[in-house]
Amino acid sequence: MGAAMVKDVRAVATKRQAYDVVIVGGAIMGSATAWFLTQNPDFDGTILVVERDPGYEFASTSHTNSCIRQQFSSTLNVRISQFAAEFIQNLPKHMGPDAPRLKIHNFGYLYMADTPAFADVLRAGQKVQTAAGAGTRVLTGQQIKDAYPFYNVDDILLGSLNTKDEGYWDGITVFDWFRRQARAKGAEYIRGEVMAMTRNAAGTAVESVTLASGQVIGCGHVVNCSGPRAAATARMAGIDLPVEPRKRYTWVFTAEQPLDRDLPLTIDPSGVHFRQDGKQSYMAGGHSDPDPGAAFDDFAMDHSLWENKIWPAIATRIPQFEAIRVQREWVGHYAMNTLDQNAIVGPHPEVTNFIFQNGFSGHGLQQSPAMGRGVAEWLTYGEYRSLDLSPLGYGRIARGEPYLEAAII
Ligand SMILES: Cc1cc2nc3c(=O)[nH]c(=O)nc-3n(C[C@H](O)[C@H](O)[C@H](O)COP(=O)(O)OP(=O)(O)OC[C@H]3O[C@@H](n4cnc5c(N)ncnc54)[C@H](O)[C@@H]3O)c2cc1C
Repeated sequence: MGAAMVKDVRAVATKRQAYDVVIVGGAIMGSATAWFLTQNPDFDGTILVVERDPGYEFASTSHTNSCIRQQFSSTLNVRISQFAAEFIQNLPKHMGPDAPRLKIHNFGYLYMADTPAFADVLRAGQKVQTAAGAGTRVLTGQQIKDAYPFYNVDDILLGSLNTKDEGYWDGITVFDWFRRQARAKGAEYIRGEVMAMTRNAAGTAVESVTLASGQVIGCGHVVNCSGPRAAATARMAGIDLPVEPRKRYTWVFTAEQPLDRDLPLTIDPSGVHFRQDGKQSYMAGGHSDPDPGAAFDDFAMDHSLWENKIWPAIATRIPQFEAIRVQREWVGHYAMNTLDQNAIVGPHPEVTNFIFQNGFSGHGLQQSPAMGRGVAEWLTYGEYRSLDLSPLGYGRIARGEPYLEAAII
């Protein structure tokens, strides 16, 4: 029997033959959009969320480091994270009295500059952030040392630090609430893989999606929430999308001599970042150089990376961390927007019922509340109402004009 004849027997048939909104991918982005739609009294349509991996074993959402920051270089990205901070810390207000009260563990982010050019980037970023209401301060090397005596700052010209609404939050709990509440309020989730899409004769809309099971489902809108597979999903509709999986490595470690205060999420000039994790444990993240696109199923660990790049960078910055021991490690995928590492959100200009929610690179978890709210508004009203996300639209991709974000991790 040829491969094309093989049906995905695990897939579950849907209750209907057509839905107003079909969401491809049910991790944090797909579930955020489904939940915001079910919340909106002006939306009375049907929602189907198709998820190929319902245990979310390979999703970026399951491999995240789950941090939030206000230190972005564009006002829009600051506003997106401000909404996230408000949403996370007021979950019962948004999701009902049973929702948990979550906190942000505000150890802060500390960007370090060892060149005048990057110091200028930090100064410019601080102006944008404080104008938007964030509490970012720029610090000289000595000021960093005064606040955190464990750092070696010999090569550091400037740092920028904010300890309000910056740090760890429990993203998996928020994801769980988005998903469970969306289902409870009528969004239908099925296990299945979208394999193909059919456009209308004029080419202006996607009429249906086809699942691996062979089932064809009509759609009013299709929302691409397929994370690192976003380009493959867009290609099904004949659309090019500059998003690819990039491997990102995480290590959790303990130190023979723990620090006497919380370690901010330190973005070292080497590109390595590290932060407080538990009370006596720390987390580091990084990638290989060069940093090629990865296969969808490549989650292999590169053990030389810790020894040759990550640990030396950490021990140089914090000499007290000369003796540290890795406890856990894993590999996840960023959905990297190779044009400008920023989100791509909203409708395609020509295939107008194909909606992007893609390319979140390393900051998608914190952007999920604003993206879910924005895409749900767009699907309901044909416009953004709370926060204008149109600068993040596909138009810039088609024109090849980056919407640059200087503060990328
Ligand atoms: C190591 C690492 C650290 C990170 N740290 C942070 C951080 O500190 N803060 C932050 O804000 N962000 C962080 N991120 C980024 C963040 O985790 C992601 O941006 C976010 O989880 C993306 O969610 P998503 O729903 O778009 O994608 P995913 O979680 O990847 O979900 C996409 C889903 O689509 C499904 N799917 C794909 N194709 C199909 C198809 N054809 N049919 C059906 N289903 C399909 C997949 O199975 C998957 O479940 C990090 C990411 C990584 C990898």
